[in-house]
Amino acid sequence: MHDLWERALDLVFPPRCAGCGVRGVLLCSTCEAAIAYIQPPACSSCGGRVTRPGTCPSCRAYPNALDGMVAATEFAGPVRACIHALKYEGQRGYAGLLAAMACPSLARLPAPDAIVPVPLSRERQRGRGFNQSLMIARHLAADALPVIPEWLARTRNTPPQVGQDREARQANVAGAFACPDLAAVHGQRILLFDDVATTGATLDACARALRAAGVASVHALVVAKAR
Ligand SMILES: [Zn+2]
Ligand SMILES: [Zn+2]
Repeated sequence: MHDLWERALDLVFPPRCAGCGVRGVLLCSTCEAAIAYIQPPACSSCGGRVTRPGTCPSCRAYPNALDGMVAATEFAGPVRACIHALKYEGQRGYAGLLAAMACPSLARLPAPDAIVPVPLSRERQRGRGFNQSLMIARHLAADALPVIPEWLARTRNTPPQVGQDREARQANVAGAFACPDLAAVHGQRILLFDDVATTGATLDACARALRAAGVASVHALVVAKAR
């Protein structure tokens, strides 16, 4: 039924490639070929590009609370356009496409017990109507892994971080997350999931909350890493 409805919508409003605007597809093959996947070696701590295996200078200077992180792509070009279309234009078809971009990177992380998407603040969730990270995570997990958004909550609203530097971002999100169900989370191997990471301050704050709740491990996967 859902698929039928989506197909009917496609007939009335044919999709356009998020990258170049060509009609008939969410992302054309030319734009798909332009996706900048981050291949190993990558920084084991933030997922960014490095020239040799290990952690990057920035992660050595500012270690985060994650056990490891992988970023599937650079936040650029067609990937940026797909994320924009999902988040700000509400084009939900892009959730599956972004999950497909992240999927090959899952194998670069240890198998988790559950995927926990980074929560939005209540205000932002209300404004947008959905959490894009939860939506992408559900496509990514398919039926193979549980996706449990209830394991992490925002305890307060945080202003948007666009344009802020590392220290401002860290101060902005410090203590902004908590685990509402300590008994459930205890001893679990968590895979945190988000659409985009910039400095990683949000993932770090999430990892701290999960660690305080006694998880066995916490890794992170993001579709795209911004610089
Ligand atoms: Zn295109
Ligand atoms: Zn790093």
